[in-house]
Amino acid sequence: MPTPTLRTQVLVVGAGPTGAVLALELAHHGVPCLVVERAIAPPRHPGVDRLTGHAVDLLRRLGLADLVRRHGAGAGPDDGPDGVEWRTRLDDEPLLVSPGPADAGAQLRIAAAELTRRLRDELRAHPLVELREGWTFTGLRIEPGGAVANMLEVRSGARHAVAARHLAGCDGAQSTVRRCLEVPMDGLINGHSPAVQYCSVFFRSADPRLPAADRRRGTVVVGGLTSVSRGNGDSWVAHLPVGADEPVTTDPVAMLRSRLGSGLDVPEVIAVAEWDDALAVAAAYRRGPVFLAGEAAHRFHPAGELADTSLADAVDLGWKLAAAINGWGGPGLLESYESERRPLALLDRELLARALETRRRFGRLNAAGAAPELLAGLLRQEAHRPDAGALPARHATSAVVWHDGAAHSAVRPGGRAPDVRLDGGGPLADRFGPELTLVDLTGDRAGAQLAAAAAARGIPVRHLPVADAAVRAGWDRHLALVRPDRHVAWCADAPPNDWNAVLDLVSGKTT
Ligand SMILES: Cc1cc2nc3c(=O)[nH]c(=O)nc-3n(C[C@H](O)[C@H](O)[C@H](O)COP(=O)(O)OP(=O)(O)OC[C@H]3O[C@@H](n4cnc5c(N)ncnc54)[C@H](O)[C@@H]3O)c2cc1C
Repeated sequence: MPTPTLRTQVLVVGAGPTGAVLALELAHHGVPCLVVERAIAPPRHPGVDRLTGHAVDLLRRLGLADLVRRHGAGAGPDDGPDGVEWRTRLDDEPLLVSPGPADAGAQLRIAAAELTRRLRDELRAHPLVELREGWTFTGLRIEPGGAVANMLEVRSGARHAVAARHLAGCDGAQSTVRRCLEVPMDGLINGHSPAVQYCSVFFRSADPRLPAADRRRGTVVVGGLTSVSRGNGDSWVAHLPVGADEPVTTDPVAMLRSRLGSGLDVPEVIAVAEWDDALAVAAAYRRGPVFLAGEAAHRFHPAGELADTSLADAVDLGWKLAAAINGWGGPGLLESYESERRPLALLDRELLARALETRRRFGRLNAAGAAPELLAGLLRQEAHRPDAGALPARHATSAVVWHDGAAHSAVRPGGRAPDVRLDGGGPLADRFGPELTLVDLTGDRAGAQLAAAAAARGIPVRHLPVADAAVRAGWDRHLALVRPDRHVAWCADAPPNDWNAVLDLVSGKTT
């Protein structure tokens, strides 16, 4: 391994959505980083498509509101989230239309290639981020005080070694970082069935039988084939299950037509990709100074249709690494990255597996000639959606959250701080600070002393007294300490007896 010629606090491997958001989160907290990306162009595969309101909110914090507004096609609350339409053949009437989750909130549609391109533009422009494109990570060595990573520069063949205090593997489902760490994936879920191979065809079609104009039915399941509208009129991605010995890419349009049982009009195929539905979660998210995030940590491929889990990994890891580097985060904070994020990935995996099994069963029964009313009856009993969009993400057992046993309030320890539009306009969250925020509804600024005591200990807390009626109606705790990722670290109706004990716990100094 060559002697390190580059040094950085944080080395981010991979500039997909996860790596890019992690780098921008670090920069948001004033921490510089080096990002290496083996590709020299954004991907063409259909990748991420929908972001929930929470993911959009995470991007807004990083100053990316304009980016999401300008380049995403909003599916606002008026449009309703995507429903799923089930048919036996493309020409047949739907057996059933399952609505999307009622309370998933506003969603944003943005194609992976567009999101990645825009995020990389942000990385190139940011003074705290150094992006090296065409650099492939090939190996690493963990040393006292950090890691040394090997790079191969694709164009010149030059080799480099980079010394980093922390390294984040955001290098996707086939993660080389994960393989270097020898972290196994906990796979196989899908009941007891083996993983199914899929071919995804990204195509344009204005065929009127595809309900592209109606966003409420953005997903169409025809027999065993799922087609997802890409939100911009005539773009679709179809996920076709393929047999182990079936040739995949010889003629994707012919495959598509034969599965749909109809001559679908497909003037353009944009990309074809292969994957399998062996959903897997890394057995560990961390080895010493090296972390895994996004698809490197949980391999869900297109099944989830939402990138929230990956983006939330990036934000969680980013602010915690920054807190450690900036000196106010204790060791417990970095330890909590795995203990907070991995259970949510396991939950996602369960929900995905459950919904994928519904689609597989529908395809099998349809192929076997099951009667439409039987299929419709079966679907009514089963889970239709593969995402956890409407379920509240809460760190119920986190060691850096002060749990007080009050489980049924709107403002809950470990839960997301409710966002409310202020009477005067704009979201409450826009007034939060970059680090911790103490939301104070006491009416007598009781939180001011707490924030000052935290600042005296080097823990950055913005004191935010709020008298707004809309917030008072939505928040049922008078004091709440909100983390950079919008989760509540501590809440109460009055100042605690021992504020220092609270601060030690939420900053990871005691666990
Ligand atoms: C065919 C397909 C369809 C998908 N459809 C959807 C969908 O509909 N909805 C959805 O939410 N998700 C979808 N996904 C998954 C989606 O791409 C991920 O959720 C999302 O991209 C997570 O991003 P990531 O940054 O973790 O990984 P990726 O997007 O995979 O990014 C990893 C990055 O690391 C780089 N890299 C890899 N190895 C190295 C290395 N050794 N050195 C340097 N750089 C490296 C890669 O070039 C890439 O830019 C799909 C994935 C595939 C493959």
